[in-house]
Amino acid sequence: MPTQSNNTRLKRRLWRDVHGRDLGVPVPCHWCRCLIGFAQATVDHVRPRSEGGEDELLNVVIACAECNQLRNRWNQTGLW
Ligand SMILES: [Zn+2]
Repeated sequence: MPTQSNNTRLKRRLWRDVHGRDLGVPVPCHWCRCLIGFAQATVDHVRPRSEGGEDELLNVVIACAECNQLRNRWNQTGLW
């Protein structure tokens, strides 16, 4: 299992490299487009780790906690 610091590193890269924003500037959730601050944002794996998804920029997006939770539930029930 990746550590929290891996996720934080990915989150920083998403913020700077993908969205081109300072960490103090909110970015939109990938799914619902609500604006999220850095501390509240979660790193969501487009292809879940359980299916071989990797911790790389091409496989992760910024998601709000709500969407991240919903996605986890869908992944577990196979409805996604
Ligand atoms: Zn969202």
